[in-house]
Formats: sequence, structure tokens, C-alpha cells
Amino acid sequence: MRNNLPPYAVSDTNSRGRRIHEDPPTGRSQFQRDRDRVIHSTAFRRLEYKTQVFVNHEGDLFRTRLTHSLEVAQIGRSIARNLQLNEELVEAISLAHDLGHTPFGHAGQDALDNCMKAHGGFEHNLQSLRVVDILEERYARFDGLNLCFETREGILKRATKSKAQALGELGERFLHGRSASLEAQLANLADEIAYNNHDVDDGVRSGLITQAQLEEIEIFARHLHQVKQHYPDIAGRRLVHETVRGMINTLATDLTTQSKVHIEAANPNSPDNVREMPTLVGFSDTIRQQQQELKRFLHKNLYKHYQVMRMSNKAHHIVEKLFSAFAAEPALLPPKYQHKFRDHGHQIIADYIAGMTDRYAIKEYRRMFAIIED
Ligand code: MG
Repeated sequence: MRNNLPPYAVSDTNSRGRRIHEDPPTGRSQFQRDRDRVIHSTAFRRLEYKTQVFVNHEGDLFRTRLTHSLEVAQIGRSIARNLQLNEELVEAISLAHDLGHTPFGHAGQDALDNCMKAHGGFEHNLQSLRVVDILEERYARFDGLNLCFETREGILKRATKSKAQALGELGERFLHGRSASLEAQLANLADEIAYNNHDVDDGVRSGLITQAQLEEIEIFARHLHQVKQHYPDIAGRRLVHETVRGMINTLATDLTTQSKVHIEAANPNSPDNVREMPTLVGFSDTIRQQQQELKRFLHKNLYKHYQVMRMSNKAHHIVEKLFSAFAAEPALLPPKYQHKFRDHGHQIIADYIAGMTDRYAIKEYRRMFAIIED
């Protein structure tokens, strides 16, 4: 724990604390405690078997949500140190930010949202918060992990106004157009740096996109050129890795430099002061545009690739079939969920499905619908 953080950083001293009072931890900070609670949670272990673009069994080398979250934490922490922000808070937010994700990445999220339309919809950000606030069952005195306000604030990246109204203090910023802490702003962009770059890497590895296609993208072409100048003889995987490494470095450096300028100019004197200001952590205009170009490329060529679309289609099918079967006959749910369904309705089906890993969802689908199990 570092005690010499500037006043704009979140610290144990200026934290708004936990929903249920607990004695302060000994030998670690409040945010180290939050990070530790996240790491020990059940939802965190499940991240190993959940994916973003590729389904878990498609290959051992692709990112899972677990390795993605670790990469976000790594990028976030190194930038936090350079901006003199609370590293442990950035780490806790990064490790927790995807806890509410459904199986099968965005396809699973969209399918579950569709199923939940008549029951308030489904949004993975809110679900991540639900996991840490309610669903984890580890403590004698409370449901969830009882994390600090600032960690929960960072997990809740976005919320619609109607949802925000039900979230009390945490929802206020969406109703009044306020910002989150600098640490939350940073974790959000570290997420973006991580996924854009690892999707390039995984995309090339899978063969769904090629290096030649990527050379049309300015930020990739520039870094590829630099690597080739330094190492004219390297090719293949090593060339792509060096290029991606260069891009991550450029993005992290740009984010640090730009944010430093913004923070110094605004000179906030507390995290609450930060919350009243426009977003201060951000890229330069040039880099933001180049990132957007890369995002558009990935959307068109990777996320909409016919092989990815086929898997997404299967994912939709699995989630929809499971949901409608449970909704039509809640007695098909495991007993623990049946009891909760009586009191809380369809949200419980969403909790059950969202908690599944890719392979568990596939197994459950077989158990429910296969006449002869193989
Ligand atoms: Mg993420």
C-alpha cells in the first residue's frame, strides 16, 4: 500500500466504504482486500471457461475471460502507477469487470438480453455488479463480496437511466451525467486496449484474419513497419507478436501522456471533485481515431466472420432453448434456483444461465434436450 497518492486518487482514507461495515483489514489496504475477494470468488474461477470471441473448446491458445481480465489488470496497473493512481483499485476493478458475462461472449449476452426483454432485459455490466453484491455466497454476515463503493462504481461501466434509478448512490452518475473515479476511467480503457489487441492476435492465430488484411489499418501498418525495420528477418507469429506488443505500448504511453495533461490542467482535489468533471483519462484524438479504425476492422472481419457467426448462432440457440424451457417449466431448474424463482421470477433463470461456462451450457443443453446422451 502506498500512502503518498495525490488527492485525486482514491485511497483508504477518502473511500466511501462498504455497504456493510467491517473492521479495516490488517496488513493490506481496503482495495487489496477487494482484489483478494474477487480472486477467491466462484465467478472468477468460471472466467477460465468463458470466452469473448472464440468458444472455449475451439483451441487452448485463445484468450478466455480469465486471461483477458489478467491482461486488463496488467495494462491498468502499469498506467495507474505512472499516473499515481490507486493501483490496487484498478486491479480489483479489472479482475471483476467481466464477472457477470454469460457463456459464449457477446452472442450469449445478446441472446439472454432478448429472452429477458419482457422482464427488464439483461446487461452484463449490471450482472457483474449483481455477482459481487448478491450472488456470491461466501460470507456468514452478508450476500456477495461487500466490496468498497469505488470498486463497485468501476465495475458498473454503464447503466440506462431506468436501471440507474434502482441503484441508489451507485446509479447517480448516470442520472446526473457525472464521471466515475480516475481509476474506474482507466480500467475501462485498459479493457479496450486489451481486447482490441488480443483480438488481433487471436484473429490471426485462428486464421480468420490475415496479416495482409491488417496492413490496411494505419496503427497496425505503422508498427509492423517499425518492427520490420528493426528486425528485417522475422516473420510469422513472432512478427505479429512484436507488432501487437508495439501497439499496446503506444496506446498505453499515449493514454498516460494525455491523461497526465488533462489531470494536471483540471487539478482535481479529491475523487469527488473528479466525479464532477468531464472524463480526464483518455487517448489523444489521433490515437482514438486509429483505435476506432481497428475496432471497425475487427467488427467487420472478425466478429462478423462467417465461422464466428456460425458459433454465435449456436450460442443463441443454446441460450434461447435453455431459457424458454426453464421459463415454461421452472421445475426443470436445479432446486436451489426453483426456490429463488418463486420469489424473484425470471431474473433467477438469467442468473443461472449467466453463471454457466461455455462447456457447462453445452452440457446442460445436452442433458435437457438430447434423447440419447452420448
Ligand atoms: Mg472486458
